[in-house]
Amino acid sequence: MLVVMKAHATPEEIQAVCDHIQQLGFRAHPLPGAQRTAIGITGNRGEVDRGNLESLSGVAEVIRVSKAYKLASRDVKEEDTVVRFPGTDAAIGGRGLAVIAGPCSIESREQAFAIAAQVAAAGAQFFRGGAYKPRTSPYAFQGLGFEALQIMADIRDKFGLRIVTEAIDSQSLELVAAWADVIQIGARNMQNFSLLKHAGRLRKPVLLKRGLSATLEEFLMAAEYIMSEGNYEVILCERGVRTFADHTRNTLDLSIVPAVQRLSHLPILVDPSHGTGKRDSVLPMARAAIASGADGVLVEVHDHPEIALSDGPQSIYPAQFVQMLNELEQIAPVVGRSLPHGIHVQAAAN
Ligand code: PEP
Ligand code: MN
Repeated sequence: MLVVMKAHATPEEIQAVCDHIQQLGFRAHPLPGAQRTAIGITGNRGEVDRGNLESLSGVAEVIRVSKAYKLASRDVKEEDTVVRFPGTDAAIGGRGLAVIAGPCSIESREQAFAIAAQVAAAGAQFFRGGAYKPRTSPYAFQGLGFEALQIMADIRDKFGLRIVTEAIDSQSLELVAAWADVIQIGARNMQNFSLLKHAGRLRKPVLLKRGLSATLEEFLMAAEYIMSEGNYEVILCERGVRTFADHTRNTLDLSIVPAVQRLSHLPILVDPSHGTGKRDSVLPMARAAIASGADGVLVEVHDHPEIALSDGPQSIYPAQFVQMLNELEQIAPVVGRSLPHGIHVQAAAN
């Protein structure tokens, strides 16, 4: 159920409706929009009696939301969600494209700083690096853990980059939430519902990657798990799915971008690195991602990919990263977007 408030409803009226919903034993999710506030109602106690709600002061109408995902749906919030980072001009969603770049794994302080310096000089606003790695083999590099979080916090201080890193369980989730700016939940954990709920109780943006074989509805339901706990800052990320095709590591499903945008107000990024697994495919698919309307890209960058401890074959060189930004800058205006200020100028100066 969704309560749509009148355009000029006061904060007190909105609060009174939320209190009323809470008293009925449900949870109220006020979602302010440009025109009016909508209040999503969730809870598994059955149907809400709409009669009383409709008579409350400031209420325009009460609507039944028939989709399984509610808070993630455009029915509840028409305008696109923009995730902002207080104290900076970085944003994910909105007109400016988001660019998240960095190595698959933080391997050492030297490696991480060298790559961060190059992506920062090119104009990236977000630095990624794995601290806790979900690897197929238990014998493969599992990440530096807490040490990597400390390294990335120092990178934020030095370069002013926002930090994106993955949490793989409840323990790492608490640490990542405390040390990073964006919590990544990886493809393998997209349906780890207890982890999603835990992330929903935190107040940090969550970058949710699509599961290896998740449908659009499963993807949006995973976002709904996070939002149902009160964390509305969810960023979706397409990173390829399993198909019969074996010319790439995964099949990058760019058609999910417009499909998500039709149904949901959440921002959606594309990861052409995991989506293809091949360095030579990353730039073409990054261009296609922006052309398809994605809100930005997440790419793996490494200065020595041949000795990377994870995902070397799909990591692009810093020079390719600069080239990618220059290409994206040209494509962006065609789809009504732009790269954040400063990317091109700085890239050209390097
Ligand atoms: C990653 O971003 O390094 C990663 C492991 O991604 P995914 O969960 O998409 O495989
Ligand atoms: Mn990786």
